Amino acid sequence: MAHFDNALICKNGHIINTVARLSPEKNLKFCTICGEKVLDKCETCGENILGSHIDDNGNYFPRKYVRPNCCHNCGDTHIWTIRNIEAVLDLLKKAGVSNPVAINKAESNLVELVRETPQMHLAAMELSNTINSLDFSIKDKIKKILKILLNPSVLKYFKL
Ligand SMILES: [Zn+2]
Ligand SMILES: [Zn+2]
Repeated sequence: MAHFDNALICKNGHIINTVARLSPEKNLKFCTICGEKVLDKCETCGENILGSHIDDNGNYFPRKYVRPNCCHNCGDTHIWTIRNIEAVLDLLKKAGVSNPVAINKAESNLVELVRETPQMHLAAMELSNTINSLDFSIKDKIKKILKILLNPSVLKYFKL
């Protein structure tokens, strides 16, 4: 029967195994890239992290796997999503965006974009303006994080 397997993802967001039940030999306790603890469950509700979809014939497509930003059971934001948002905010601060109002605005815009809400279009416009006012080196670093954090369908609303 078609179903979702469980995924193992480290706290920084490196995907360890998207089929933890089908291929448990690939399961790890700690990430071999960054050394962080590997999670198999949502830290808020304890539900298994959503893994690859396995069809009726037992087939799955690892390349189709999209790392979840939020828990499918409680809706809370996963730790790797929070860390990527924080990394963007730290770069903005480094670039001299020190006004707490501006930082709070950037944070709420990032949350709208991660969650792909109807407000994401406005959020993309505002965040594009902020990022485009920065030096190229910082702008480039933020772009790299956004590519990891956001779906390509969301990224296309950015004018960077
Ligand atoms: Zn890692
Ligand atoms: Zn949860």
